[in-house]
Amino acid sequence: MSFETMTDDQCWAVMQRRDKAFDGRFIVGVLTTGIYCRPSCAARQPLRANVRFFRDGADARAAGLRPCKRCLPDDVGRDEAAVLAAIKAIQTSEEPLALADLAARTGYSPTHFQRVFTRHTGLSPAAYARALREERAREALSEAGRVTDAIYDAGFSGPSRFYENMEGRMGMTASAWANGGKGATIHWAVVPTSLGDMLVAATGKGVCRLSFAEGREALEERFPAAELVEGGAEFAGLLKQVVDAVETPALGFDHIPIDVKGTAFQEAVWRELRKIPAGETRSYAEIAAAVGKPKAVRAAGSANGANNVAVLIPCHRVVRSDGSLGGYAYGLPIKEELLKREAR
Ligand SMILES: [Zn+2]
Repeated sequence: MSFETMTDDQCWAVMQRRDKAFDGRFIVGVLTTGIYCRPSCAARQPLRANVRFFRDGADARAAGLRPCKRCLPDDVGRDEAAVLAAIKAIQTSEEPLALADLAARTGYSPTHFQRVFTRHTGLSPAAYARALREERAREALSEAGRVTDAIYDAGFSGPSRFYENMEGRMGMTASAWANGGKGATIHWAVVPTSLGDMLVAATGKGVCRLSFAEGREALEERFPAAELVEGGAEFAGLLKQVVDAVETPALGFDHIPIDVKGTAFQEAVWRELRKIPAGETRSYAEIAAAVGKPKAVRAAGSANGANNVAVLIPCHRVVRSDGSLGGYAYGLPIKEELLKREAR
């Protein structure tokens, strides 16, 4: 969301929750004090009637306002540039870089730079470098810059939980999800189940799509550049495991590999979903809290809905805080039936 597409109400809501992800996207001017701030400024919140929103510091200054000394709104761009420069340096350096070296490149003091970097990425520079090395070691990076992209996609949120859970079975390389599945061969089948026709599709790494009431066309839309092969001997074994897991939840499905790709935030949500035991449910708020973003309840709901592998990433185990079922991509009867089976 950029300032141009945001309503004043949305800007106000961002400001109310002091959402750091919007720092640099717009400026809050307070007419009574003559000061302008980042949306996340920790200063006492002014009355709404006294607030005006501006695209940037220049616009706010043109309206006669001065920058806040506490949140330094004009430094946002400088902070972003410093973080990006440091990420680039970490990514391209063969050796671990000392905090003092990184800070020196940006012109910040080491302590200040550490604070700025951590605020933007959720990790200290050292932890970021470590996580990056680990990911590379596992060939988890499908392309250079993926970590930066993921962090920025996630609205500068901290992927620390995401890194904590890297041991899981969830495929992170996800060849099929890059470039519409270019170079990937995807085996697929539609099988009748007690929940209706179920589409199962898999790359060599794992199940990349599980859905209901879909066929080849839906797959072509998702993976326009992949080679789609119906059936296949090796795939048949995986397919049987999937059908068994769906029909008999007591069998569990931790052993079934999946191949998915999302933003760091989406993947963090999907990992949390995989941790919900069969027979239990969580609320969207609980999932948001579990990934370390307690205020991102709606974003957690969207990540839940963006799940491509139904059942095996059990998004059906997330319900509303009031206990009502909430939504489900394939209709509430299927969600209800899945939960009923698992409760047995
Ligand atoms: Zn301020």
